[in-house]
Amino acid sequence: MIVPFREILKDAFLHHYGVGAFNCLSLENVLGAIAAAERFRSPIILQIAEVQFPYSPLELMVPMFIEKARQASVPVCVHLDHGLSFETCARAIRLGCNSVMIDSSSLPFDQNVALTCEVVRMARAFGVDVEAELGKVGDAGKDEAEADVFTDVEESARFIEQTRIDALAVAIGNKHGKYTATPRLNIRRLEEIRDRNQLPLVLHGGSGTSDEDFKSCVHNGISKVNVATAIQLGVTERVRQYVQQPDANYIDMKDVIVRASQEVVERHILLFESNDRC
Ligand SMILES: [Zn+2]
Repeated sequence: MIVPFREILKDAFLHHYGVGAFNCLSLENVLGAIAAAERFRSPIILQIAEVQFPYSPLELMVPMFIEKARQASVPVCVHLDHGLSFETCARAIRLGCNSVMIDSSSLPFDQNVALTCEVVRMARAFGVDVEAELGKVGDAGKDEAEADVFTDVEESARFIEQTRIDALAVAIGNKHGKYTATPRLNIRRLEEIRDRNQLPLVLHGGSGTSDEDFKSCVHNGISKVNVATAIQLGVTERVRQYVQQPDANYIDMKDVIVRASQEVVERHILLFESNDRC
């Protein structure tokens, strides 16, 4: 069933668990993710990011997400991840997304506030929720110094007050993509941001974080955890194993890709403790 973003996150925030937001790039990813959520009675967020549109177009993916979400026996929210402009957020809303992320975190504070406010104003008119980002979540393998730009506590309070967003993505040492070394997250900063704001927080770049840090995050204010790279890594590993079998004939979508997607999502559901919540 489709359940609003803010409701799914509110329950997670109140009960100190995290909801996995999985970037699904194919039908097989979607089928695996929903099967995992239903198996473990977990709410789930299906999402696609703007940088992924060239090979997983928004206009094809969102209707598929929505149909599968409607059929699901667990709460599902359909979300735009990392919308880079007002226009992209509008496209996602028109297609029926329940929530959108406007990512203007690379802009100076005031411009980030201004663009986020514009998106919030439009989204509210359609009953759609908004996630925004403050601080800079770096990219794994790129400029190491970028990761030091943590979200500032007082700035986060001003940002939330001025924009009235529903969830805030924070930078606490997390990075996007495939890590070369396991990062250490600044949990103390996370606690400070949580205490100051009492708003569901989002962790991006969840593919290389240690299990211990994930647990600390979901127990301390992270209510949504984005998982993108891990699914595709799991699928890649499964395909590699499969084609090495002497009798490998062709790749069966269900047995290979769906199954691999499901297993990655199941592992994260248990890690984030969102199982048996519905
Ligand atoms: Zn992200």
